[in-house]
This record gives sequence, structure tokens and C-alpha cells, in this order.
Amino acid sequence: MMTGPRTLATRRGELALPAFLPDATRAVVRAVDSADLEATGVRALMVNTLHIASRPGLSVIKTAGGLHAFMGWPGPIATDSGGFQVYSLLAAGLATVSRQGFSYRAARGAERERLTPETCIARQLRAGSDLLFCLDHCTGPDAEAAELRESVENTVAWSRACRRAFDGAVSGASGRPLLYAVIQGGSDIALRRECAERLVEIGFDGFGFGGWPLEGRRLSPMVAATAAILEGRFPLHGLGIGKPENVVAAFRAGYSTFDCVIPTRDARHGRLFVFAGPPSPSMLGESGFYTPLSLESPRLRRDNGPVEEGCDCPCCTRYSRAYLHHLYAVKDAAAARLATLHNLRFYSRLVEALARE
Ligand SMILES: [Zn+2]
Repeated sequence: MMTGPRTLATRRGELALPAFLPDATRAVVRAVDSADLEATGVRALMVNTLHIASRPGLSVIKTAGGLHAFMGWPGPIATDSGGFQVYSLLAAGLATVSRQGFSYRAARGAERERLTPETCIARQLRAGSDLLFCLDHCTGPDAEAAELRESVENTVAWSRACRRAFDGAVSGASGRPLLYAVIQGGSDIALRRECAERLVEIGFDGFGFGGWPLEGRRLSPMVAATAAILEGRFPLHGLGIGKPENVVAAFRAGYSTFDCVIPTRDARHGRLFVFAGPPSPSMLGESGFYTPLSLESPRLRRDNGPVEEGCDCPCCTRYSRAYLHHLYAVKDAAAARLATLHNLRFYSRLVEALARE
């Protein structure tokens, strides 16, 4: 087990580690507001740069005084580079990639836009991010050697250009944000090592694991192997990680921050996470430490117990399974909100338990 520092110094204060960052994709964690987030113990958020650049637009956010003022959220905010979204447009023929970056259309018929290292950094700074990610070139799980090599060459070149653009923009500014680069290389460990070493040489505050981290239910062994290359020297972020058991495994491999849509998306679909007992480091493992609860289940109709016995979230301390089942059945917005609050509190309690290891 590799455990690194217990806090991450950001310009919005010390972030206790490990930390799970819910995805506030469009400058909101769907169905809940910033006060709700605080009530669940969430300490930092991940915002999707391309989505907010499209709506409401970065000039609107800039005029509001940045993301924090716009969202009424005082804690650290991380932003992604947008590279992953644009990469997913490649397969649909809506994007092309070159050493300069991506050229893409957000949808068929939309105007062609460019995502370069320079625009990537400028957009994140404009949004007021506290933790920026460099543009990286993602690959799919079946990528062949030549594509993996190209992805590493592009990722290193783009990260260098991002570093330059970032340094040029924030020089002399007090309270500078953090800049992370993303390690690519697919399932080729030698290439991962080369990518990591070349990025370390350029110099970053931390690193993300790039690519498809998940193979079915299990975390890819490459996630742990990539962390081992860096030997705990830097904070590591698990992009898109993930399921509770994968957060546990990635933390034990050396990652300290995570972001994923799973707790919030599942909540909106009536899928809740319930601990099998009070969460503690010894009970957390590959399986068996939680059970899923479906709000669709007819068994909940007369179940007047809380979603989870012992959970201190705003949902469990006040409402029953029967009430949530009813709200979900009549499709009231309160069902999504209360389920999201519970699932986010589940993830907060999960990382709080891991912090005691
Ligand atoms: Zn709860």
C-alpha cells in the first residue's frame, strides 16, 4: 500500500485527502445545489470545461466573477481539459487530431472549433479553476502500438505547451492554481513509464491517469502500475474513477483524488449505495462492503426504515425508504435530490474511512 500526503495545498485552502470530487459537469452537480453539497461533506468539485464554455459561455462566468462566485461554491474547483470529450468525437468523425491539438465540431452542423494546449489552458484559467489539467491524447482499450506512440508524443508535446501557456498567464499572480498533466501509454507499461518520466522532467504539481481505467468491474492493473512508477512523489488523480471498490483499490495504489459521475448518475436512476456496516478501513475491499438499493423495488413500499441505518445524510436522518420509493414512483424532483445527497454522503464516508488507514 502506498499512502502519500494527507492534504493537497490549493489556493482555496488545504484539501483533505483522499477526496472524491463529484462531477459538476455543467457548473452544477445535477439535482443539488452548493449548500446541499456542503451538507454531504463534499470538499471539492470537478467541472467540465467544454460544457461550460458552450453554455453559459466563459464570458458569462468571467463576468460573474468566476466559477466560485457563479456557483456559490467556496471550496476548490478542478476543471478537466476537454480532451476526453473531444477524443470521443473522433470515432464519430466529428474531430481530427494533429500535433497542434484537436479540431472538432461539438455536433453535426456545428461550427468547427479548435482545442489546442493554449486554448485549453486559457479556458480553464478564465473559468477560475483551482486545479487545471493539461490537454492529453486519450486512446481506446484496443489501441495498437503506433497509436499509443502517437498519443504519448502528442500528450508530452501538448503538456509542454500547456506548461508554457500556464506559466506565461499566471506569472506574478498570487495564489496560483495547480497544474496536472495526464499520463498516457495504454496498456504498455514501458510507454507509460516513458510518458511519466518525460512529464516529470517538464514539471507539474501532480498527475492524472489517462485512458480507459476500467475493465469491467475491476480496476485495470495499469492504474496501479502507473502509480508505482511515480513512487508516491506526486499527488495522483484518478480521472473517471469510479465505483466504490475501484476508489478503494486506486487509493491503496497511491491515488488521492477521484472524480466520477457514478454516485450522482446512479442516484438519479434510483440506484443507491448502502454500506454493509459502519465504514472502516478494515471492511473496505474488493467487494461485500456495500449493497445496491433500487428505489424501484416494490419491497420498499412499506419499508419505514432509512435508506441506510446509521447514515447521517439529510435524506436518511429525516425520510424513510417508503417515502423515497414513493417520490421516485411519482417522478418528483425531490427523489433525485435526496438520492444524490445520500450517494454523495456515501462517497464522503468512504473517503473519510480511507483517510483513517
Ligand atoms: Zn444517507
